[in-house]
Amino acid sequence: MTEISLVRGDITDQTVDAIVNAANSSLLGGGGVDGAIHRRGGPEILAACRALRASDYPDGLPAGQAVATTAGALSARWVIHTVGPVFSAREDRSALLASCYRESLRVADELGVESIAFPAISMGVYRWPIEDGARLALETVRSTPSKVTEIRFVLFDPAAHQAFAARL
Ligand code: ADP
Repeated sequence: MTEISLVRGDITDQTVDAIVNAANSSLLGGGGVDGAIHRRGGPEILAACRALRASDYPDGLPAGQAVATTAGALSARWVIHTVGPVFSAREDRSALLASCYRESLRVADELGVESIAFPAISMGVYRWPIEDGARLALETVRSTPSKVTEIRFVLFDPAAHQAFAARL
């Protein structure tokens, strides 16, 4: 049984086995939740991301995929970096956004993660509409089999928290 919960706050304050980062494909840091994770987690995370770029992802991590690194100084064992799609009104990119949640859970399973914290992937700078993003996030994690026992959505933005709460 997987328990799904919602928290309003900062994902870098969470004590869980894995924290998911809404990264960009460079894996080299950015703004929003990505910036917060690198600031708080320290340089070890960036060093691990650079190593991944050099070994496995010379062109960056494609949207919809996920990869894990150390969590550095965060209260977690792992950061799972996933790259959400930029919202497009012309093209339906929902499958890529769903893939972010599914692939993050697959990587979590591989690592033996029991508790995981997700941010609202793509729902910031990448402009995904919050109501739709919340629906898609919850439907996807509910329908993805995994050994993770606790899935915590950590919503920084009150409107995102509201949208997730209305759906849960
Ligand atoms: P993206 O580029 O995938 O849209 P953003 O980081 O811009 O990623 O935004 C994703 C969501 O993360 C937004 O709802 C934003 O408010 C939220 N966010 C920003 N900082 C944090 C944080 N420290 N903890 C949790 N969520 C955060």
